Amino acid sequence: MHKIMIISGAGLSAESGIRTFRDNDGLWEEYDVMQVCSTQGWENDRELVTQFYNARRNDLKDKLPNAAHHAFARLEQLYPGQVIHLTQNVDDLLERAGCKEVIHLHGTLRDLRCEECGYTWDIAFEAQNEHDACPVCESDRIRHNVVMFGESAPAYAKIYTAISESDFFIAVGTSGQVIDIVPIAGEFAHSLIINPKREEHVTAFGSFEKSIDEYFEHFIQKGASAAVDEMLGLVADHLR
Ligand SMILES: [Zn+2]
Repeated sequence: MHKIMIISGAGLSAESGIRTFRDNDGLWEEYDVMQVCSTQGWENDRELVTQFYNARRNDLKDKLPNAAHHAFARLEQLYPGQVIHLTQNVDDLLERAGCKEVIHLHGTLRDLRCEECGYTWDIAFEAQNEHDACPVCESDRIRHNVVMFGESAPAYAKIYTAISESDFFIAVGTSGQVIDIVPIAGEFAHSLIINPKREEHVTAFGSFEKSIDEYFEHFIQKGASAAVDEMLGLVADHLR
């Protein structure tokens, strides 16, 4: 039985220097998001998309977990078997901090996947070009393992399982624009959101008057790593 469910987003890894399209920074300025992160773009130019993910994988190599990644690993140690961490991030910084119970909702940057047999394998920070065939079926139809626009995210089903098994919900570093965390918070008696700023509640149906934090029991208005002590304190209070 899991007691604590965590959903994390880009804000968790931002302090480790992991950039996203929303930051309009460096690597990302050279690419059009729909060319490199959509099924359409993948069909149009597999080489460009492969280069893009190779660059991101290479970029991840020298990044380090920050205090927040380490705090979530600590949480797992303090409450063994009671933490389930669903992350929207494709980096491996939670794992490198020592987390074991991580579900990557949008895939994993370090892995490649075979389009023929579905096998996935870890190539660490290498370029895909050095892996020209699937180690299982030898197909040359191989790709990055990150969910693109226009694809379903099979791991989303695990959100519902996690909700039914948990009683405390922590959202960290997510603006709620990709996964609407407001209805999820509504399923919990106890909830905490960590975000440096108040985020508008925007959905496909429009924007709402209340900001996202108003749907949560607790709000720590800080960056992820600055919120660590307060978060561990709140969890301890609830699970006492
Ligand atoms: Zn294969």
